[in-house]
Amino acid sequence: MRRKNIYLQNITITGVAAEGKALAKLDGKVLFVEGAIPGDVVDIRLTKSKKDWAEAVITTIVTPSPQRVAAFCLHFGLCGGCKWQMLPYELQLQYKQNEVLQNLTRLGKIELPTINTILGSERQTEYRNKLEFTFSNKRYRTTAELAHCTSKTEIYNLPAEPALGYHVPKLFDKIIPIQHCHLMAEPTNSLRNYIFDFCVAQNYPFYDVRNHTGWLRNLMLRITTTGQVMLNVILAYDGADTKVLLDNILKKFTEITSLQYTINNKHNDSIYDLTPIVYYGKAFIVEQLEQFMFTISAKSFFQTNTKQAEVLYQVTRNYAELTGTQVLYDLYCGTGSIGIFCSAGAAKVIGVELIPEAIENAKQNAAINHITHTYFFAGDVAAICNNEFFETHGRPDVIVTDPPRAGMHAALIAQIVAMQAPIVVYVSCNSATQARDLQLLDAYYKVTAVQPVDMFPHTHHIENVVQLKLR
Ligand code: SAH
Repeated sequence: MRRKNIYLQNITITGVAAEGKALAKLDGKVLFVEGAIPGDVVDIRLTKSKKDWAEAVITTIVTPSPQRVAAFCLHFGLCGGCKWQMLPYELQLQYKQNEVLQNLTRLGKIELPTINTILGSERQTEYRNKLEFTFSNKRYRTTAELAHCTSKTEIYNLPAEPALGYHVPKLFDKIIPIQHCHLMAEPTNSLRNYIFDFCVAQNYPFYDVRNHTGWLRNLMLRITTTGQVMLNVILAYDGADTKVLLDNILKKFTEITSLQYTINNKHNDSIYDLTPIVYYGKAFIVEQLEQFMFTISAKSFFQTNTKQAEVLYQVTRNYAELTGTQVLYDLYCGTGSIGIFCSAGAAKVIGVELIPEAIENAKQNAAINHITHTYFFAGDVAAICNNEFFETHGRPDVIVTDPPRAGMHAALIAQIVAMQAPIVVYVSCNSATQARDLQLLDAYYKVTAVQPVDMFPHTHHIENVVQLKLR
């Protein structure tokens, strides 16, 4: 029997491992089962099998866990987002809390205070402020839809149909047509569905990502809590239809405050090396956290759950214990949001970030909030934050660090240790790399508080804030 075709029956799911994978044990081997939750009894097919562990998909749910709840989304099971809908939110939070605990104790192996209870997101649907959709000339067809096909050739020869929606996990060229996504408020669904119907009616060519033909590529939509709406339509080339499409969108959706389009004739989908063109309204939208305003342009990074970003930044500011006299460093500062949010308590704020455009946004954000004691620098934190930099701008009293998933560069950790800032606040979107970094800091810094925050309901992602004090 080929390894991939191993089927197993009546497997009881016993727990949730790192990154939200449901797990079971069989004869000393760990099985990671996609789409299952603890308490489920399932029949499975192994998709990958190694000596000590295997990955599997469910073929039948024999007995569902009593804790299962009905998924609320019609795209559940196919779409890669919101994979934990069948778990009640309270349980999602427990598993996230446990992942932080496991990572910090097992990988960090450091002395810890009691980990505070994770702060759940007030909104569990429509919590995002940004979504991206992809156009494709190849709609994904489900197994059920293909059941009548008797050969691969028959499947291959089915006429391609257009779609606008999300990628199917692990398939780069197939798109699930989305009718209703619960991640962002209206006009998200009405706008996307209108654009799809209009483009089909006009017979506009949807992009073919294998052959690099077609016109319509992506939609990026942002909606702020201040009621502003930004739409960026990404097209393979410009032409007379651009105006027809954009004018029709504008006529129908008067709530749009910034309509942009971007010409992308490259083979990849990234727009970070391209320049969006403002067709209507402003080049940016404005989001508000507490009394602070932040301008967001088409390419800027901004925390995607606005309400929960406020909570995350409040925790960060509390842990910084600012009294008005400190020099605060905001490392990996993005558009300066944490530094600006904490600025009232600091004598001076220094922000460092890799992307020059984000630093420009950070400076504008400080200006629109009438903050004059912030200073932002573009470059690699590990290269910029040397002795001379700290001597020039002032030795840090508090360092807030918010690295990407990979965690901090070892050279930066060495530099933080050398600077001996009394307080370090480590904001992380990956508690595994955070645990590794905390271990490197452990000889000099004691972990004094830990607060997980849930920014992404129905996914396994967790944000974790740690306060460290110099020993
Ligand atoms: N603190 C910000 C952004 C956090 S995301 C906020 O809350 O909005 C992490 C940021 O680190 C990104 O903006 C990314 O561009 C930046 N970054 C990644 N690698 C970096 C590096 N080596 N040096 C400086 N910044 C980096």
